[in-house]
Formats: sequence, structure tokens, C-alpha cells
Amino acid sequence: MKYEIEINKTENSKLKDFDINNASFGKVYSDHMFCAEYADGEWKNFSIQPFGPITLTPANLTLHYGQSVFEGMKASKDSEGNPMLFRLDRHISRLNRSAERMGMPSFPADLFNQALELLVSIDYKWIPEAPSALYIRPFMFAADEFIGVRSSDTFKFIIFTGPVSNYYTKPVKLLTAQKYIRAAKGGVGYAKTAGNYAATLYPMNIASKMGYDQIMWMSADFEYVQECGTMNLFFVIDGRVVTPTTIDGTILEGITRDSFITLLKEKGIRVEERHVNIKEIVEAHENGTLEDVFGAGTAAVVAPVSELTYRDKVMKLPPIEGREISKFLKEELSNIRSGATEDRFNWIHKVKIHETA
Ligand SMILES: *Cc1c(COP(=O)(O)O)cnc(C)c1O
Repeated sequence: MKYEIEINKTENSKLKDFDINNASFGKVYSDHMFCAEYADGEWKNFSIQPFGPITLTPANLTLHYGQSVFEGMKASKDSEGNPMLFRLDRHISRLNRSAERMGMPSFPADLFNQALELLVSIDYKWIPEAPSALYIRPFMFAADEFIGVRSSDTFKFIIFTGPVSNYYTKPVKLLTAQKYIRAAKGGVGYAKTAGNYAATLYPMNIASKMGYDQIMWMSADFEYVQECGTMNLFFVIDGRVVTPTTIDGTILEGITRDSFITLLKEKGIRVEERHVNIKEIVEAHENGTLEDVFGAGTAAVVAPVSELTYRDKVMKLPPIEGREISKFLKEELSNIRSGATEDRFNWIHKVKIHETA
């Protein structure tokens, strides 16, 4: 189905004000955004507008109860400058899984594709050179003016974008959670929803004061590893790759995680998706078989861990240079995204630019 999307372009492009190839994460936004509204049981009023403030009633339900979900994805460009989107289908299906858990309506996948194609084709000049990329932030939030606790009847859906550089990610120091948790069975851990992040801010501030970059979140009994920050975790133990299973619904099902598992299997490297007890990690470190620990997510792709602290035990990890598996994953995924390597899994969605759109 083709949807009617009204286009209202800005007269004042901000493109010339920025060095888009060196933009730090989350500071620079492209000229336009896509907006849609949900009321009377349907999505309507589709438009592309100049990126800018939106007005909200102080009684907006989201501001009080956090009924909102989001996605994070990236666009790169091919050698002719055409935008390339990564694993579109996965992002919209995850957004809709998050929305369902938060009592929100689903957003039609074909509308999502059409809106995103139009938006990136209008703002294609904002896509930086690889390894930088255009970060895309689709999100949906409750729009009712109502402060009773119930699901909203109206919602807004917005997509905006902004260039992000592939900043050299300095190795991360992780602190194993001992007191606070992010998610438990039956909760909303698998949903990309506002409250999940809010819950981590206070413990993160404490960890940060202690000199750590991230907290490694644990199950409610503090036995099993979950994930860290906005990244899934991988461990390389004696040549085997181990990553926590998402079966409990407590971990965000990362698309980078899924891509890495696919790439590893293709290469014939064994990957174990299962519950990972912290004792196993400590033991592997003691035996000298803990070869690598890294985070996987859209923003950083791979974030190598230099140090992992569990209670009073500080586990130093081997030098980054020798970590062949995570190096391979980062390079391979970046090459597929930039078109340098063949897209044999059909992950790339190319967008034709409409100069007159
Ligand atoms: C977004 C996110 C991830 C990573 O997902 P990707 O699809 O790989 O970007 C992992 N954990 C959390 C909590 C997240 O929000």
C-alpha cells in the first residue's frame, strides 16, 4: 500500500553549519523529520517537516508514565551516494514487539519503510562518509492529555536522523551489578522503552563516580549475566563464543547481536546462546581462557571490554590488538554496511534518491 505523505521542506538547511563526518553522537540532527498521529484506532496525518520542537501539554501521559518506545538504526551510502538502510524489517518488528508490551498500537511495516525511504532520500546529503553513518531514531509515544494511569488513546510516531561518527571507542571498564537490576523475568527488559533506561541512570552515576564506563546487568538473583548499557555482551572462552540467551525476555534482542551470530556461524565458529553464570566467567579468567569480552550494538558496533569487576575481583582482559574474533565481526559488519563486502544475507535495503522529492 502507498500512503500519502505531505512534504514541507525547510528553506534553511543547516547542513553547512556542521562537519558531518566528525559529528559526536546525539548532538547533530538532519533537516527533516517524519511525523504521524494515531487517533480513532488508525494512523493518519503523515508528514515530513523541518526538524524542530514539538508542543506538548504538561498533562501528556508519556511525561508521567513513560508509555513510549524507540528504535536505533543506521544508514550508510553506496559508492554512488545512494542511502543504504540496514535490516529494516528487524527494526520495525522489534519496535512493534516493544509497542505491544507497552500497550501501544503497532505501526504498519510498509508505512515505516515508505516514511524512512522518503526521509533519508530527502536528507541524503546528511549521510557521512563511512565509517561514520546516519543514525536514525524512530519512536512512538502516548499523546493523551490525561494523568490517570491507563493506556493512551492517541499516539505520535516520529523519525528523525543525525550523522554520527564512528568514534574510536575506547575500551570499556565494566562493573558487575551487585545491588540494582535492570530487568527481571516478566518485566519489560526486551522492550526498547523509556523506563528501562531511566532505571539504569542512578546506578550508572554511582558506577561512573567509581571510574567505570558501564554496568554489566545481572539477573535478579545476581547469578546470570544479562547485558550492559545499550549493548548485548559476548564472551570468547577458549575459542568458543558465548552470549546470554534472550529466552527469559529480560534482555534486549539486539540486531547487531543477531548479525554477529549469523556471521560467526557462517565462518564455522561455534556460538553458544545460553544462560551465562558469572562464576563461569570468573573461572575462565582464572584459567587464562577468557580471551575476549565485548559489547555489541548499533551505536558502537563492537565495544571491547578492557576490565571487568565482580565484587572485589578485577579481571583484566587481554590486549585489544589480539582479539581476532571481535575484530573480524566489526570489520565484516562495517564492510557489509558500506557495500565493500557482498550482502549475502539480504541485510541492506538500497534507497533511490529523488532529487525533487
Ligand atoms: C538497543 C539496545 C541493544 C542493542 O541492539 P542493536 O539492535 O544491536 O542496536 C542492546 N541492549 C539494549 C538495552 C538496547 O537498548
